[in-house]
Amino acid sequence: MKQKIKTRFVLVAGGVISGVGKGVISGSIGKILKEHGLKTTLIKIDPYINYDAGTLRPTEHGEVWVTEDGGEIDQDLGTYERFMNMSIPKKNNITTGQIYKSVIDRERAGEYLGKTVQFVPHITDEIINRIKQAAEGYDIAVIEIGGTAGDYENVPFLFAIKALERELGADHFAYVLVTYLPVPAHIDEMKTKPTQQAIRLLGEQGILPDYIVCRSQFPLDDIRRKKIEAFAHLSSDRIIAAPDIASIYHMPLGLEQQDFGKKLLKQLHLTSKHTPDWNAWQERVHHIEHPEKKISVAIIGKYLANGSFSMTDSYISICHALIHAGAELNAGVDITWIDAERFETNPEKLDDLQSFDGVIIPGGFGNTGVEGKIKAIEYVRTHDIPFVGLCYGLQLATIEFARNVCGLKDAHTTEVDPKTPYPIIDVLPLQKELLQTNQYGGTMRLGAYEATLKAGTLVHQLYQKAEQKAEVKVVYERHRHRYEVNPTFVPVLEKKGLLFSGRHVRADDTNLMEFLELTGHPFFVATQAHPEFKSRLGNPNPVFAGFVAACCQAKEKQSFVQPGAAKQSSVAL
Ligand code: GLN
Repeated sequence: MKQKIKTRFVLVAGGVISGVGKGVISGSIGKILKEHGLKTTLIKIDPYINYDAGTLRPTEHGEVWVTEDGGEIDQDLGTYERFMNMSIPKKNNITTGQIYKSVIDRERAGEYLGKTVQFVPHITDEIINRIKQAAEGYDIAVIEIGGTAGDYENVPFLFAIKALERELGADHFAYVLVTYLPVPAHIDEMKTKPTQQAIRLLGEQGILPDYIVCRSQFPLDDIRRKKIEAFAHLSSDRIIAAPDIASIYHMPLGLEQQDFGKKLLKQLHLTSKHTPDWNAWQERVHHIEHPEKKISVAIIGKYLANGSFSMTDSYISICHALIHAGAELNAGVDITWIDAERFETNPEKLDDLQSFDGVIIPGGFGNTGVEGKIKAIEYVRTHDIPFVGLCYGLQLATIEFARNVCGLKDAHTTEVDPKTPYPIIDVLPLQKELLQTNQYGGTMRLGAYEATLKAGTLVHQLYQKAEQKAEVKVVYERHRHRYEVNPTFVPVLEKKGLLFSGRHVRADDTNLMEFLELTGHPFFVATQAHPEFKSRLGNPNPVFAGFVAACCQAKEKQSFVQPGAAKQSSVAL
């Protein structure tokens, strides 16, 4: 007989419109349940046909999140990790593409033994199996389903979840509908009609919500609450208010004030294993919302003229890594987005960088804005402005150093200039083959790789400080790239003072440069990895913690030199 799984499930579905923060609500529910002592994980269902998010354009779908085990995933998994302070594997992201691909692959391999392969049971069984695999070993799995109630694409997943409920019993499930209550400006009144319709649409799939989380600009009043209660046939304690908040990290606190955790546990026939202690979390949220000091950081990237919204979303993990580091130091971080191309057309604009306490060059691909980024790196290197280079940022910092310090004129990455006389950044042979045969999906150097740190370097100190007791020799950060610092040029770069503070040594003995730094500079650190993917509230990533501390110092020094001097804090795109 099949062993019945013990895991309980909380399904989070959305109504009305997308983008109201289902990911944040799901992450907050996960965090609350974890604080009650339950072993909790989160699963994201993405009903799109893409196999994974790796081939999605960040400006359209937000950042591509990279998991420890190398998955290229929807950014909601990042939200979960940041709330939960845990790594969530790629199997916790289920897409329509994955479901159909495995069913069709199995059919091609003759595994269905001549049967007609159908939506029910083959597709639904595949969905159920994947949910079970991701949930295995946990007390509770929170499942967030992408899109909104009524989307055609959601139907197979909702159907499968009902089938799982039938298998396990209704006591294993709690259904949460996240809706939005708009206040149209011309009538200045909060409307519940879209929520009523969302309840109905979810009901068409056989799902009656147990809780309705009401996202809104303003607090929910009694009149609207009563209306929703009546439409959903729910008691008023099951209508959870979630008005806009200054920081997303406030959400679990707001939900807990309404005892959402206890209510969910009661419904799932589970008991709280310990009383949550929110003090430390609350203090960090207070630091985020009311920081004692403020620093301003410029992020110089390649930005399509799409407004600052898409930029924030494309680099969301960097923003949060800065917030987490700031929360420890009681420092708010103002971010200004700068289009690298402006330094190519107007080099005099480089002086604007003086008004920032630190500069970040994030990851990127292709040649747009590359020369502008290299100019900006030269500027921060020679003007002692704290700097972090992430992935492409490390590659371009190496190129800048090769050109301007080592005198290797026209040094470049073969990604941009395949004929450069000095291919400082180049592609490894295996990657070359993949590119020549157009195998783009899921073939980069992905996920966590080990880096051995050089004792006594700044990077080593940063990681050592974060670890406190244990001695740090190796660290694991997540990667998403094809190109590498060309090992041939490492000796000449080192001779001129570029310090490679961390390396990954491959089985064939090839040394891949993972971290670099410059001595004598207040803070000049770059990494081939994306450390922003391992930063969590309460557990900031060491690179960002060091950078934000250096920015605070730079700011203090500047105010000491120029008492009262007002700093310009924003540069237009
Ligand atoms: N384009 C570079 C590479 O593929 C850097 C990638 C990145 O910044 N994520 O190696």
